[in-house]
Amino acid sequence: MADIFDKLKSGLNKGVASVSTGSKTLIEKAKINSRIKTLEDEKKQLEELLGARVYNLYMEMEGDIPRSELVGFCEEITKRTELINEQKQRLKELDEEMNQVIGNTRIGPPVCKCGHVNPEGARFCARCGSQL
Ligand SMILES: [Zn+2]
Repeated sequence: MADIFDKLKSGLNKGVASVSTGSKTLIEKAKINSRIKTLEDEKKQLEELLGARVYNLYMEMEGDIPRSELVGFCEEITKRTELINEQKQRLKELDEEMNQVIGNTRIGPPVCKCGHVNPEGARFCARCGSQL
């Protein structure tokens, strides 16, 4: 009887821990989303400036526009794209971390993605061998 109670209690404690991890993750995700938004705005502005620059050069110059006139803008835009991708990758990692936390807090026997119900404490599925 005490055993069941302890199990339930530890399950509850884990649940509380996962809620606080979850809300921390949500805050972190909100920050990353706003960083992405800022970077995207900057990128858009740079693209507009680049467009205006190209047009002015086109009007001022005879012949082709040298790359050297555009390289500064292009590098800044590329940098923004890379930063945006990094932030998006971080978002993905946070989602995976959060799913793992939620997965680890289940109460009851571990059920595999293949549907097999495994004995309590099993780390791998007895049917398909997947990690639980
Ligand atoms: Zn399985």
